[in-house]
Amino acid sequence: MNLINDQWLPVRRRSGRRERIAPWELTDGHDSDPVTALDAARPDFQGALAQFLIGLLQTAAAPDAQRGIDWDEWLEAPPSPQQLQELVGPYVDYFELGGEGPRFLQDFDELDDDPKPIASLLIEIPGANTLRNNTDHFIKRGGVNHICPACAAAALFTLQTSAPGGGAGHRTSLRGGGPLTTLVVLDPKGEKVAATLWRDLWLNILPQSHICQLTGNSERAEPAAIFPWLAPTRISGKGGEDTLPEHAHPLQMYWGMPRRIRLELEAPVEGECDICSTASETLLSRYVTKNYGINYSGAWEHPLTPHYIDEKSGMPMPNHAQPGGFSFRHWSGWITPGEARKPAQVVSYFHEHRRMDNAQLRLWSSGYDMDNMKARAWYETTVPLYLLPEGEGRRRFIRQVDNLIDAATQAAYYTRSAVKEAWFSRPGDAKGDTSFIRHEFMVRTEEAFYTLLRESHEVALNGGDEVPLRERWLQRLRSEAERLFEERAESGALDEGELARIARAHIDLRKRLKGNKLYELLGLSKPKKVKTMGVKETANAD
Ligand SMILES: [Zn+2]
Repeated sequence: MNLINDQWLPVRRRSGRRERIAPWELTDGHDSDPVTALDAARPDFQGALAQFLIGLLQTAAAPDAQRGIDWDEWLEAPPSPQQLQELVGPYVDYFELGGEGPRFLQDFDELDDDPKPIASLLIEIPGANTLRNNTDHFIKRGGVNHICPACAAAALFTLQTSAPGGGAGHRTSLRGGGPLTTLVVLDPKGEKVAATLWRDLWLNILPQSHICQLTGNSERAEPAAIFPWLAPTRISGKGGEDTLPEHAHPLQMYWGMPRRIRLELEAPVEGECDICSTASETLLSRYVTKNYGINYSGAWEHPLTPHYIDEKSGMPMPNHAQPGGFSFRHWSGWITPGEARKPAQVVSYFHEHRRMDNAQLRLWSSGYDMDNMKARAWYETTVPLYLLPEGEGRRRFIRQVDNLIDAATQAAYYTRSAVKEAWFSRPGDAKGDTSFIRHEFMVRTEEAFYTLLRESHEVALNGGDEVPLRERWLQRLRSEAERLFEERAESGALDEGELARIARAHIDLRKRLKGNKLYELLGLSKPKKVKTMGVKETANAD
């Protein structure tokens, strides 16, 4: 199978029609019945295939005045499939899944280890609803014995892009195990620009002139510096060496290959694919892998991933999803720059250089929560994306959002502590996980947060006063904290001692909610005289 020439990508069109296309057919029927989404059998494949296509467009069709490729023009009116086919044509030979020559994302050399069952190529994802007991996995290893070449290609790309640690010498991805990916996408409900898959991908393509500013060595122009499978693998470990940005072209970040893998294509089986159910005469059952492949090391900064600044080294480190998943408290880290955070380069570039109607834009964030070698969960969400030109308005907006999130995080912490105090006579000793209370607090205040975010953006854009918005947030946080406390703390049959403990915890919670801390975090000044409890108070704004 050739991953440029063959129709292997599962997609959906606006009419609902499902089909498989070759990458260059992305824009086929764009004006009549456009391809609107990928249609992969697994959520992690969905994310990986989007990154595969972004990698291909970034490599073969980046905006470049010299080549007559204009980003704005192509966003509005995409190139024809024939134009795209011409652009990706020179890369066809690098995208063979099998055959005598180099094989896509596989080791240049035959590997001599014992073959493994093909299911081991998959990163296991426990089902979201079975996370609690942690025993039942909706993708069972035993259930996958034979997979079609299209699923094998998707699994290979998924593993190489997200590889967790796999034991001695089995390297993690260029961004570590199970990195977080953030992509700019259109709101499908937006009315100004119709959302299509082409546009969702094109929004994340950087201009050719920007590539040399990414980490990597853009002087290394030979194809193997971009596609590492075109040459013998840079072995790591004993007798080998790490692969630093100086050793590879920046575009290799899109085509990283930390694992040495060869798919066994020599003994195909006929039947149905155990992942996508497609009938095929060339199902794969096994592959061979070997450790000590490419070890990406040093200051790599993948353009599709947000980074945080490591306190000790001062180096940007890729973000990963954490247990508990995503909530609005991640919004700033994904979208606005700060002293300790760097959004993904595609997001920052968008911020600095692209002008689009904000109402239409969202950020699609996805990634695994990895526990060393195993995936605990796959998380994904989309959140509204607001942009502002450089200047005082943007600075105020960033500060405002940080204040709102910090205050919510603090109020969630108060609530969790109060519930613990109510439940346990010595809360400090209490075992048991109460982190779900924080999560629930965030879920319940999410809608109000995004409403305030929109209003704050309007204020920053058009001028106005943010203080009333912060005051409203403070009231909302207080009322939600009390409501959640009452629901959680006061349930079940209670004896007098317990009731007294709950009452004390409740009083403490109210005190904290009215204390200095939340005012400070929100940049509000505390009213001079606080009236009796339960009476709505007003905060001064100066
Ligand atoms: Zn399949």
